[in-house]
Amino acid sequence: MSGVEMKKFRRAFDVFRKTVILYDFEEIKTPIFEETALFERSLGGGTDVVSKQMYTFEDKSGRSLTLRPEGTAGLVRAAISGNLLRELPARFWYCGPMFRYEKPQKDRRRQFYQLGAEIFGEAGCAADAEVIEICNDFFNRLGIEYSLKINSIGCPECRGRYEDALKKYLADVLDELCGDCRERYIKNPLRVLDCKIDRGKDVIKKAPNFESFLCEKCGGDFEGVKNILKERGISFEIDSRLVRGLDYYTGCVFEFYTSAARDAIAAGGRYDGLVKFLGGADVAAAGVAIGLDRISSSIKIDESREGYLITGVGVSGGELERLARLIREAGFLCRVSSKQKLKKALAEASSGNFKYAVIVGEDELKNDSVSVKDLGSGEQKTFAKEEFIKKL
Ligand SMILES: [Zn+2]
Ligand SMILES: [Zn+2]
Repeated sequence: MSGVEMKKFRRAFDVFRKTVILYDFEEIKTPIFEETALFERSLGGGTDVVSKQMYTFEDKSGRSLTLRPEGTAGLVRAAISGNLLRELPARFWYCGPMFRYEKPQKDRRRQFYQLGAEIFGEAGCAADAEVIEICNDFFNRLGIEYSLKINSIGCPECRGRYEDALKKYLADVLDELCGDCRERYIKNPLRVLDCKIDRGKDVIKKAPNFESFLCEKCGGDFEGVKNILKERGISFEIDSRLVRGLDYYTGCVFEFYTSAARDAIAAGGRYDGLVKFLGGADVAAAGVAIGLDRISSSIKIDESREGYLITGVGVSGGELERLARLIREAGFLCRVSSKQKLKKALAEASSGNFKYAVIVGEDELKNDSVSVKDLGSGEQKTFAKEEFIKKL
């Protein structure tokens, strides 16, 4: 990553950091790799990520390790082993590379970056709505227009009831599904709903609707999320086919889309069972992960900089460096050009997106002055050196 792409990455990172700090989240960094079993257990063996996309290898003592394909499982593992959940609620945010073995294409890379936020110890619906609201603030600040889909996949009880009904329904339409789905149907029928091949088919669209299988508590929580979002003016659409590609989710799940990216740009939901499942206490949790590579093309950056390029023909380099130091001490970006012709130096200044060129020629040196050219307007003025430094 470099150039404009790097700048967009940095801008997204800065805006996200600012946003989550306003919501009182704490930054956390977790290892790039974990024991393979962590992902197999928490993401689920029937998921595409675990069965097809993980970078798994053995270390020197024969342990199976995997480059993290997502951020939540490792974060929960770290939070448990570091005893970070002793005081609740706890709120963490992170940024880092994730790895999935997929066919590389535009905005889908094998090493990609995610921004994430996780809230622990808040049951009910407020935390779900809060992580959605964080995405809303983040995308608004970046000027990214999005659409939001939400659904609820309930607790293990209502999910069990739904899975039974789904299985019954799928049994009659199996020959319309792909080969993988005929296997998923037995092991993990929910995964059929987000199959990349079958997702758009009519048989999937006509599958039973999850909302009508929700128990009273799950139904109430889902209503709660919807009400908070309405109250905050965040528009959404309910997609009863939305089940997320990972097994650890419970309750409300959601995905953000833009017209520029084919895949979801952000996704998340509630995962109340995961902390306990991985050996911790019974802690409620909700979170989101945002795909930095997927929003990159939608981020606008201002390439102009409040910077100065100093050029001097026939003037000693030491003299120019002294002036540069004064400009930097005043807090401005500054570069000394080594070009020996004014025209070439000015070309360097405009291709580097500097705002001003500071010209020190023999006349200026004699009068202890500098000429400052505004590269936007083309206007040039001469100042006494002291006056110029003061003006900075
Ligand atoms: Zn339920
Ligand atoms: Zn399928």
